[in-house]
Amino acid sequence: MGRIWNFSAGPAVLPEEVLKEAADEMLDYQGSGMSVMEMSHRSKVYDKIIKDAEQDLRDLLEIPDNYKVLFLQGGAHLQFAAVPMNLMKNKVADYIVTGQWATRAWKEANKYGKANKIASSEDKTFSYIPDCSDLPIDENADYVYICENNTIYGTKFHELPNTKGKVLVSDVSSCFLSEPMDVTKYGLIYGGAQKNIGPAGVVIAIIREDLLTDEPLPGTPTICSYKVQADADSLYNTPPCYGIYICGKVFKWLKKRGGLQAMKEYNEKKAKILYDFLDESKMFKGTVAKKDRSLMNVPFVTGDPDLDAKFIKESTAAGFANLKGHRSVGGMRASIYNAMPIEGVEALVEFMKKFEAENTK
Ligand SMILES: *Cc1c(COP(=O)(O)O)cnc(C)c1O
Repeated sequence: MGRIWNFSAGPAVLPEEVLKEAADEMLDYQGSGMSVMEMSHRSKVYDKIIKDAEQDLRDLLEIPDNYKVLFLQGGAHLQFAAVPMNLMKNKVADYIVTGQWATRAWKEANKYGKANKIASSEDKTFSYIPDCSDLPIDENADYVYICENNTIYGTKFHELPNTKGKVLVSDVSSCFLSEPMDVTKYGLIYGGAQKNIGPAGVVIAIIREDLLTDEPLPGTPTICSYKVQADADSLYNTPPCYGIYICGKVFKWLKKRGGLQAMKEYNEKKAKILYDFLDESKMFKGTVAKKDRSLMNVPFVTGDPDLDAKFIKESTAAGFANLKGHRSVGGMRASIYNAMPIEGVEALVEFMKKFEAENTK
């Protein structure tokens, strides 16, 4: 039994150190005589776990005091609805549609008000980020929405859109903590944990205090109110306790590794190995505009679906898991999140070279 190279897009690879620590603490968390899964979310011992997790996240992202950190549930999908329910005062919002998740968020927002699609890259199967320097922002827009890293297509906003003074809302699920971010540029940042931070079941939202409202849209479920969650320090109801505990361990692991600037450098080095190979290979090709490439999700194809299938079959047998592309695009995708060691990417590129040599006449 051993661990294999896991290129899953999510739920995804976690640091081995974190998993081992959690295993050691499984039956008896630090002398409490119980597992973190078994303890009250209102106990003293759990209070320290969630408070430490929040503080470590604040340290990593340098979150200013006028932002609240919320630990929520329901996946990114519940946020697709919670965002408009909480922020659509004028019932108007502008969406930049760069992939499937942004499309879903845009469609969901249309249930609550007028969600304008102000830019899209659908014309070229979402393989690039549109120019967002001068968009037709609606005068009444309550916010401008982006999906910052497009997990399925492998693109990333390397420059934020010009929102012309409107609040920026960003889904960062698949690039959360992969590099430093200037939190002050956003009104709301949120992400599901299962890509780059922890287990599925936790969503983290970082929201500027002035956006918290006592009056979300009528009919908003109480647990979807950011104000209610903020006032209760994410303990209005039972939070995803165990998941938050694992996220907290990942935050400590990131701090030990030198924080987000160090992670960015590591991630750049890692992604470069794969992108450089894709650029020189005669068989494998990257699928997105070079300037918009993601550091986290790297889709690629051979151009021949049969050869793609052969590659996936043989790579899986050789211990490279989950390289199949998303069912909506086909081909391959290597997700190389924070916890994927550089050795995993080196091994993958070696395997790709070998496959190319063996399958070229
Ligand atoms: C995976 C993903 C989602 C969907 O997350 P769920 O937790 O399944 O709701 C949304 N946005 C992005 C960017 C993602 O990567």
